[in-house]
Amino acid sequence: MTMTQSEIYQELKKCVKCGACMAVCPIYRQTGREEMVARGKLNLIEIIHNNRELPEAWIEAVDHCLLCCSCEENCSKEVKITEVIAAARIHQTEIKGLNKVKKGAFALLKNRIFSIAKFVKLGSLVQWILWRRLPRHSGLVRRLPLPGIDENMVVPILPRRNLDDILKKRKINPQLPSLLFFPGCATRYLHPQMGLDLIFVLEQLGFNAIVPTEFNCCGMVTWGAGDAATNTQLKEGNLKVFNDNAQVKTVVTGCASCGHALKEYDNLPQECEILDISEFLFRHKEKLEQLVAGRNLTRKITYHDPCHLRKGQGITKEPRWLLKLIAGENFIEMRHPERCCGAGGTFGLTHKELSRKILKEKTDAADATGAEIVTSGCPGCLLQLTEGAVVADSSWQTEHPLSLLAELLRNS
Ligand code: SF4
Ligand code: SF4
Repeated sequence: MTMTQSEIYQELKKCVKCGACMAVCPIYRQTGREEMVARGKLNLIEIIHNNRELPEAWIEAVDHCLLCCSCEENCSKEVKITEVIAAARIHQTEIKGLNKVKKGAFALLKNRIFSIAKFVKLGSLVQWILWRRLPRHSGLVRRLPLPGIDENMVVPILPRRNLDDILKKRKINPQLPSLLFFPGCATRYLHPQMGLDLIFVLEQLGFNAIVPTEFNCCGMVTWGAGDAATNTQLKEGNLKVFNDNAQVKTVVTGCASCGHALKEYDNLPQECEILDISEFLFRHKEKLEQLVAGRNLTRKITYHDPCHLRKGQGITKEPRWLLKLIAGENFIEMRHPERCCGAGGTFGLTHKELSRKILKEKTDAADATGAEIVTSGCPGCLLQLTEGAVVADSSWQTEHPLSLLAELLRNS
């Protein structure tokens, strides 16, 4: 959502400077600097509200935020902190413009000719020149020194065929009730198997998942970067798809960030309901419990709450119910599962050192459980956690809970 000047002002006025946000901000925990926590950021934003001169301290404060919503969850005044920070980034972009890398990346999201799909396919052909496969984890690390990329940075393996390609010849059973599946860019272009797992699980429950190829990126990354124009364009494209399929009332996604972004859209078609896959499965728990009955994954599993699922959408019990269903006693809670992993959209790329420090808390907590698999309902968190395992030399794997469920059902 893009805020008007008067809405921003109203939010700024709601802050009573109590400092409750300090207890939960991952950036503040690492830096101890007032301007890095919500209270300090709001103060700075208020001082130069409407001003076209942007001091460096202001830019640094606005830039150093994971948009993790931890402060919002702890704010008794319900200040819409992340929306104000995103609005400040839009203000900054209007004055200074976007940096070249983000500009180029966002152009791929909206360009149908040189699209992200083509970029990934091209990358899949040449990736092995610069990158090598990780021996114990899913992902790639650099082969040779590359500028700005350290030896532990993990990037996904780019598949030759994306989810749209794989689904081209799929036959849908017209007898089954349908719902829309919004895969999001990560699942669609980088981890198509995750999308196939979700479709498979829905079919087991008796539903068709329709996956329109016209879907855009959800817009979360452009919103977080302050690119209001691209964000609006992406959202309008998605709203058109929702309206064109308005007879289908339920939209599911397996990506926490996409779900959070879509739920914030204005003007969704009437009765259109966006659900995270864990919410959807929870609504069909009796059927799923019957399907799973008597079977358990035997590996130890723990769970990291994606910020955009827990704090953005208030979803905590559903993924835990699912993990207990498939792993029983082998599901172990980690210390502070609610704490951000430090990914924060592009934050993990642009602020590597700080992001790694935040990640270290998470990998230490995962290590302490003795789990063999760390799960999370967000592809971005999963990539960050994989990098954490590589940095910490931990042996645990990372998986989406949905993929574990699919594995269990396939092996029946
Ligand atoms: S918790 Fe909310 S009201 Fe208190 S200082 Fe932080 S933003 Fe302001
Ligand atoms: S959104 Fe997260 S990183 Fe940003 S100020 Fe709030 S708690 Fe800190």
